[in-house]
Amino acid sequence: MSHENILELFERLTLLEKANERAIAQAHSLQAVQLVALHYLARCNRFSDTPAAVTEYLSATKGTVSQSLIQLEKKGMVTKVQDPEDKRVSHLKLTSLGRSLVKQTNQLALLDQALGGLDCEEKAALESLLRKTLIELQNTHKHAMFGPCSQCKHLQKSKGGHLCGLTKEPLYESDLVQICREYTHP
Ligand code: SF4
Repeated sequence: MSHENILELFERLTLLEKANERAIAQAHSLQAVQLVALHYLARCNRFSDTPAAVTEYLSATKGTVSQSLIQLEKKGMVTKVQDPEDKRVSHLKLTSLGRSLVKQTNQLALLDQALGGLDCEEKAALESLLRKTLIELQNTHKHAMFGPCSQCKHLQKSKGGHLCGLTKEPLYESDLVQICREYTHP
């Protein structure tokens, strides 16, 4: 397959997914960026739920994300919680309304539905190729990688379970599948 064909496929998939995202967001009186921010907050860990991390994940401008987060707060879907150790830092938590909206819209992604048609081997092969491509891109452009603890270079085993080698904080079972802005590919 040629380079051009692959790029064309990526473009088509992205456009279809984005259009679907806009439609779902509109149906819930949200902007697409707000919907993506909610889904990110549902999947990120406690080191990555700050406004700065959301901005980095969305690769959007600080102003756009800041406005989106203000709107989500006004709609009662997100709430800000001050960091107990550093008063300058605030964490964004989904409210029950925010969580319920994420749950309702989780299965609506077109790609999610299309992936249902692939078997385990095909999914594993596709994941590996996409991850390799993403890592190339992020390395070239120096973007944060965002990935789960379970696949991070800093994950360490400790007596009670797991530990983050970077922050030295304990990691719980639920942390292992959440995404983190400090994720480093092994
Ligand atoms: S192990 Fe990696 S992904 Fe997990 S919290 Fe630490 S830096 Fe983040």
